[in-house]
Amino acid sequence: MELAERIRKLPPYLFVEISRRIAEKRAQGVDIVTFGIGDPDLPTPKHILAALKEAADVPANHRYPESEGLPELRQSIAGWYERRFGLAFDANKEVLPLIGSKEGIGHMALCLIDPGDVALVPDPGYPVYSIGTMFAGGESYLLPLTEENDFLVDFGAIPADVARRAKVLWLNYPNNPTGAVADIGFFEEAVAFAKKYDIVICHDGPYSEVAFDGYKPVSFLQAKGARDVGVEFHSFSKSYNMTGWRIGMAVGNPTLIDALMRVKSNLDSGIPQAIQRMAIAAVEGPQDTIGEHNAVYQRRRDRVVSVLQGMGLRVRPPKASLYVWARTPEGYTSAQYATRLLDDLGIVVTPGAGYGEHGEHYIRLSLTIADDRMEEGLRRMEGWAGAK
Ligand SMILES: *Cc1c(COP(=O)(O)O)cnc(C)c1O
Repeated sequence: MELAERIRKLPPYLFVEISRRIAEKRAQGVDIVTFGIGDPDLPTPKHILAALKEAADVPANHRYPESEGLPELRQSIAGWYERRFGLAFDANKEVLPLIGSKEGIGHMALCLIDPGDVALVPDPGYPVYSIGTMFAGGESYLLPLTEENDFLVDFGAIPADVARRAKVLWLNYPNNPTGAVADIGFFEEAVAFAKKYDIVICHDGPYSEVAFDGYKPVSFLQAKGARDVGVEFHSFSKSYNMTGWRIGMAVGNPTLIDALMRVKSNLDSGIPQAIQRMAIAAVEGPQDTIGEHNAVYQRRRDRVVSVLQGMGLRVRPPKASLYVWARTPEGYTSAQYATRLLDDLGIVVTPGAGYGEHGEHYIRLSLTIADDRMEEGLRRMEGWAGAK
């Protein structure tokens, strides 16, 4: 049996070594505290679950859904963009529900990339941008996100010959894993760059509702000219604690939305309708849980940042996202430091190198950890002699 090159070319799972050690520790009876997983720990709000339960009893929801999603859901998403960002979209042509935004991000590459084409991909970054590119036969040109540049893409540093060959630019703010945020000026710079070189922009924005200290992230689509060149991927996962239900959306340029719809309609048969009803309930219902959850994450952020700073690590409190991104001490790679935290303290953090070469010398701690577990982990770190 010979598997396709795209499978053979998949990078080895970058956290294999650390996963092996976690399993080993657990087997030895070590009480592991994990800051590794970016998946909201609090449950899906009750009124959203109520919509699922009600929808489960409706026979129409037992049948194949339409690929393009329920018209009511597309309308609800358009309404949310209008209320939240002051942007009007045609629910029939500029909005497409997805089976989680990851699904759309992966499939978007099939709309834009032919064999040998180039995608511009941030490093560190969410792995799907470059894997989707590789699956489509393309190559990723990595754009370093550095602390000196506030983890923003430096468009001036992209060589003109690379830009001329590029088909798509991937962006993600508020950013996973760095926690960085971008303003409209940055997105307008991105649009100007994309127009100059005829490049599509795909902005991945699942953290726009997860923000602290009164800060409100912008949408890429608010930038002047954004919808001429791009789409925004968004998700119910992080805003409404719905990662397990798998529902997201793409919004923006109708040509891109149509292309993605055509790919999807040949590969999937839509989102279970009862889950689409949950998404409608999420955007149409009370929004209080967003602020409540953010207050929880903000309190955790402050605790985590203060303990890491106490350990002598360089870390900036993020204004948004679910992640704290901390510089490892001199003399450690990110994997070495993560391994020490695991061996000495039974604490799991994600080594930054897992997100790309420029994630080296950082670790990521997720704020989606129950308070009592977080406090247990922080207590161990506070008393750690190895910190010095
Ligand atoms: C969580 C996450 C997503 C995926 O969200 P789903 O809608 O659950 O697929 C996409 N991009 C980034 C950067 C994420 O962190």
